[in-house]
Amino acid sequence: MNILVINAGSSSLKYQLMNPDTGDVTAKGLCERIGLDGRLNHKVIASGKKLVKDIPMPTHKEAIEAVMDILVDSEYGVIKSVDEIDAVGHRVLHGGDKFVASCIIDDACKQAIRDCIPLGPLHNPANLMGIEACEKAMPGKPQVAVFDTAFHMTMPPKAYRYAIPTKYYTEDHLRRYGFHGTSHRFVSKRCIELMGGKNADKIIVCHLGNGSSLSAVKDGKCQDTSMGLSPLAGVPMGTRAGDIDTCVAQFIMNKEGISADECLNMLNKKSGVLALSGVSSDFRDIEAAADQGNEDCKLALEKFAYEVKKYIGAYAAALGGLDCLVFTAGVGENSGSMRARICEGLEYLGVKIDAEKNKLRGEEVIISTPDSKVTVWVIPTNEELMIAQDTAELAR
Ligand code: AMP
Repeated sequence: MNILVINAGSSSLKYQLMNPDTGDVTAKGLCERIGLDGRLNHKVIASGKKLVKDIPMPTHKEAIEAVMDILVDSEYGVIKSVDEIDAVGHRVLHGGDKFVASCIIDDACKQAIRDCIPLGPLHNPANLMGIEACEKAMPGKPQVAVFDTAFHMTMPPKAYRYAIPTKYYTEDHLRRYGFHGTSHRFVSKRCIELMGGKNADKIIVCHLGNGSSLSAVKDGKCQDTSMGLSPLAGVPMGTRAGDIDTCVAQFIMNKEGISADECLNMLNKKSGVLALSGVSSDFRDIEAAADQGNEDCKLALEKFAYEVKKYIGAYAAALGGLDCLVFTAGVGENSGSMRARICEGLEYLGVKIDAEKNKLRGEEVIISTPDSKVTVWVIPTNEELMIAQDTAELAR
């Protein structure tokens, strides 16, 4: 089976053609500068052949057409005809409280995604453009929407309600939604499989990348997560501030004479470890500068680890204990030093890290000692595979 996985942004569109049963990717790439001029970056996985080509892409429709053309190309293609694509899976940011699982895209589903635009104003319109472009390019082909928010829909009201006047929940749907749900689902499911279904009732997943979020998972179901109505909440991130006192925003708006939108832009794009380090939003750069003695970078790393550690403590309390702690995403999979920093002092919870095993990178591996009460895992995330598996299941 061939599933085309699409992640459409406002001016870009990532794609992967994969087998949902084996996880093998045959080709992948990125269309960028959609609406400006247009460029296709394409890679054939088996041969390693790469192509970068300027192709006019006034809209997402031309981008999808370029993807279709290259997938069947005599030199860079991996299939003979578009008919060999069985279904298309789309990553969709916000499903609001309407979607608790992935769904086949029909008119009602598209309308529901449209209804969620006020909750995901940057991403949902772009996701819809990707869906509609595929409908035009491949009429009749089954398409599936996989929502970043869906996994978190099992949270109880005490976790998702904000302590603000009720009408903002009942009339405007303001609540905690959480994001990275496809990753949290993939990784927690994989953890339960790897544990053979035993001693994995209470899991905390740390998805630590450029964007970061944690989730508390009980019996495979999400109980709480650190992002909120938007991805700005939770731990500090590459460029996002994470949780702050709302009065900080009010103070900055008054002092600088800027609007709420401008202030939020600053909190989303110019804050986080970028702001604290003064060097970069990339953890590799910050770790390198900290090793050279840069005090601001040391603080940025300490702050990040401290806030992640606090969420782990909070979620262990929420779950009433902890069986497995899982690290995933760019930082979680690759930075042994950050994992060590986060786990330092968590011995009271039963977390004991094996320093040698913790040096391994990007592999599915247990990094705790055999006598650690909590099993600490590194599990590489694979959101595209999760999207492909959901798509295949619904299309079948
Ligand atoms: P993601 O958003 O999951 O793609 O993760 C991106 C983040 O992972 C960036 O901030 C990278 O600096 C970080 N990252 C990737 N590799 C490493 C590494 N070896 N050590 C530290 N951070 C890393």
